[in-house]
Order: sequence, then structure tokens, then C-alpha cells
Amino acid sequence: MYTAERITLARLPSGVPVETTVHRYGTGEGPTCYVQAAQHGRELNGTELLRRLHGRLTDADRAGPHHTDLAGTLIAVPVADPLTFDHVSYTTPEPIDSAAPNMNRCWPGDPEGSIHERMAARLWAEIEGVDAIVDLHTGSPEMLTHTVYLRGDADSRRLAEAFGTDLLLAEAAGDEADTEWDARDFDGKLRVAATREGIPSITPELGSNKQVDPAAVAAGLDGLVGVCRHLGLLDGEPEPWDGTRARNHLGRVRASDSGLFVVDEGVELGMAVEPGAAFGTVYEPTTYEPLQTATADREGIVYSVARESTVTAGQTLIGIAERLPTEPNG
Ligand SMILES: [Zn+2]
Repeated sequence: MYTAERITLARLPSGVPVETTVHRYGTGEGPTCYVQAAQHGRELNGTELLRRLHGRLTDADRAGPHHTDLAGTLIAVPVADPLTFDHVSYTTPEPIDSAAPNMNRCWPGDPEGSIHERMAARLWAEIEGVDAIVDLHTGSPEMLTHTVYLRGDADSRRLAEAFGTDLLLAEAAGDEADTEWDARDFDGKLRVAATREGIPSITPELGSNKQVDPAAVAAGLDGLVGVCRHLGLLDGEPEPWDGTRARNHLGRVRASDSGLFVVDEGVELGMAVEPGAAFGTVYEPTTYEPLQTATADREGIVYSVARESTVTAGQTLIGIAERLPTEPNG
């Protein structure tokens, strides 16, 4: 079975409907997996990899699984937020949705709420009752490819392992999170809202924004095949995972003052660091006075590096993912 359904997510002030397309593949018997891309509209690699997957699933002459091979249902929404997609943006402009400019802070949505809340509620109607969710995002060229899951949710962790990026980040939310992060409405992320409803959910962050990156698309395709195997939609087992699990949002080395940040040679995404390792210098551009030597505050793996050199006080210069011990519920 393959169907494509055009649905209306919300209506704009002019009366123009906000529409998107929901693709369904499989037999209807067995587990259901929901995959969406581009709820941050400038994050395009998920859209492209879903197109590639569609090509494989619907062309019987091609290598790879056909939709008749799926022992269950795969639901795919290649453009979850057409509004930010059209603006090549992360959030909507103020006049469209001042209450929830970031769609990924308002799940499970509200059919009588703001435009984004209505859009999320309409997609949530497709989601209710599914067995797993993959919400495809992209980071930036400054960020290592990784997959995020809710810390402490073992089913989501196993789903992340099946997706298979080398780095998995466990993210705290709600009461377990630092106040700073809790205040950023992480509870309203699709992944967090769905995990709390008992649906294992992951957020892969693949490749870079605004550009279709072949390596990111390939990694995402492999990831979805691994997820389908893990869920039993496809025969076989996912590749065994032997990467690194770490905590999200800790180990952020911030600029102590504003200036220009020059990264030391040899600093690379994915490198392991010890406490005190130096990354570069922030200096005062008119006097050349050094203001800060950026150093690691912990042992871990470098997963983000600020490559735009003009920095302001408090900005994150380097992100260090702190390894988590192997524990059953980590
Ligand atoms: Zn995103």
C-alpha cells in the first residue's frame, strides 16, 4: 500500500491554507513509524532523504526495500512546517505566530491555539497511536552529526542506537533539566512530548542547514533502515552500535567577553579533550589585547565549535559532550 494525502494544517490571515503532504507506505499490519522533516524549514536534509527513501519504496525495479516489504506502516511528512520552509528559516516571522514562533516548542499543539499550535495539533492526529517517531533536523557545519533522545528513556535510547549516528546525546527536560534549559520550553519539543506519551522518539541532527549534503542524506537513509529493522518493519537487525553516549547541553565553554574568536589549528569536531585543553583566543580587535583563552572545563568530545569569529560575551564558543557511563537507563 502506498498513499499520499494532502492535508490542511492551518489557515493564514489572507485565507490561504497551509497544506502539506502525508505519505503512507506498508501493509497496515504491525508497528507504525512516523517520520517528519523540516519543522525547522531551513533544515532540508530530512526532506531530501525522505524523497530518496520514497524512490526506493515505490520503484520495484530498484535495489532496496519496496513498500510491499514493510511489515507495518511508515508515515512520512517531508515538510512539517511549510511556513518556515518558505522563509528558509528556523522560526516564523512575528506577525504569523508571536505565541509560538518555533514550531518545535508547542507540541502536542492545540487545535484552537496559534497557527503553529494548530499545525502541530493536526500533525499530532497522524502521530497518535504510532510506535516510534523520528523527527529529522539538521545542525550546522559547526556541529557534529548526532542523535538526541530524552535522558532516562531506554526505548528512545535503543531507537537512537538503531538509527546509528556515532554520537548520541541524552537530553534532560522538565524537572530534571537545568533551569536555563527548562525555561526554553523543551517540554514542547515533539520528541519530548511524544516520549512522555510513551512513544519512543529521537531527533537526529544531520549535516548542515540550507544545503543538501550527500553524506547527511546517506547517513539518514541508513538510519531509517536501521530504525525500520529495529521496529520489525523490515527483516534483519540494525547494525550493532558502538559509538559514544553523552549528555546534551553541558560543557558549554562561553565567551567571557566580546571580541574576535580565533580557533587554534587542529581543533576539530569529534576530538576527545581533557580538562584545561585550549581551543583558541578571544581578543579585543582594536588593541589586540587577549581577553580569554578558551579552555575545556571537563573531559569529553568536542561537538560544536563557533566558526563565525565575531563573538559576544556569554556566547557558546565550544560545546563539549560529556560521556555517559554505560548504564541500562541512561
Ligand atoms: Zn531543528
